[in-house]
Amino acid sequence: MPKHSVTSIYVTRPELPPLDEFIPYLEKMWDSRILTNCGPFHQQLEAALCQYLAVPYISLFANATIALLAAFKALHIEGEVITTPYSFVATSHALLWNGLTPVFTDVDPVTLNLDPDKIEAAITEKTSAILAVHCYGHPCDVEKIQKIADKYKLKVIYDAAHAFGVVGDHGSVLNEGDLSVLSFHATKVFNTFEGGAIISADPAMKNLIDDLKNFGFEDEVSVISTGINGKMSEMNAALGLLQLKYVDQAIVKRGQIDARYREKLSSIKGVRCLDRNGQQRSNYSYFPVLIDAHFPLSRDALYLKLKSFNIHPRRYFYPLISEFEMYSKLASADKAGLPIAHHASEMVLCLPIYPDLSLSDVDNIVDIIADVT
Ligand SMILES: *Cc1c(COP(=O)(O)O)cnc(C)c1O
Repeated sequence: MPKHSVTSIYVTRPELPPLDEFIPYLEKMWDSRILTNCGPFHQQLEAALCQYLAVPYISLFANATIALLAAFKALHIEGEVITTPYSFVATSHALLWNGLTPVFTDVDPVTLNLDPDKIEAAITEKTSAILAVHCYGHPCDVEKIQKIADKYKLKVIYDAAHAFGVVGDHGSVLNEGDLSVLSFHATKVFNTFEGGAIISADPAMKNLIDDLKNFGFEDEVSVISTGINGKMSEMNAALGLLQLKYVDQAIVKRGQIDARYREKLSSIKGVRCLDRNGQQRSNYSYFPVLIDAHFPLSRDALYLKLKSFNIHPRRYFYPLISEFEMYSKLASADKAGLPIAHHASEMVLCLPIYPDLSLSDVDNIVDIIADVT
């Protein structure tokens, strides 16, 4: 019998740098009294992230949800937006908040990302953009998506909340599409407690986004757009600068956990790990497995069993966004049109993965899963 774990293990555990290293940043803020409004730490973090992520321009935000809202405003998107139901609910909420209509199309069975081959059939004269998600940090089929976008003159926005530092076959995935949005929420690979960012390709777009996150102020007396307050504070930006020093070693540790899961789970029938195709560099942000009919327990029975051992995996993404009440009445939310997303949603379980999860805890988790066979 596997040992009971004594302390609870959650699907993730926020990363924090050594506290004493944060004190000098705080002292600077206390001395300068610059607490927000794009101060020195904010500017330094933008520069440091451009370099680390190999992207041309970045605009920091208070969180990714507000960044998504601003991204659609910045591109003047109207009408319908083709998107995935297999994501965190903020993805589609950003559309509704902008008065846009989400049009859900099905996902690819291998990557669980938006299936490019399903997009064209969903395009109408009202379609103005595609909102895709690099789910679990696995890159979308960016080439096919861009081809369709070019053909129909659509904008492409990537919800890259899971894709911090991911490098695909053509460099950073964050440079794909018109805009990409990152999340620095506490549960993500790189966190600033709360935070987010938009990556853009040219200085005019960055300026527009920077105005949008600051109420639409262009200067002291001109307001040029219906902006919002989406600014990241100096506290969060300073933390980000410090976190950045440790993020590489955190990703290395995540990679070791990922490898251990794959090795140990490979002999268990009915548990499929998702491939890491098309990634020159992964961030190992999640560890999703699909529990199929060859496994003796249902996904939910296994989920409850792990919980009884104080291990708390998550069913990301169940329910699908299209099942929530504010979306379920849309024609595109019909289950019949989204068979693969529904199937994945019923099979998926995200196992715990975070840098200080020990490999013996990983072994313990796999032993509990294996013990039913
Ligand atoms: C976390 C997440 C968001 C929201 O990020 P916040 O920074 O918490 O607003 C959006 N989309 C996806 C796919 C996410 O995982």
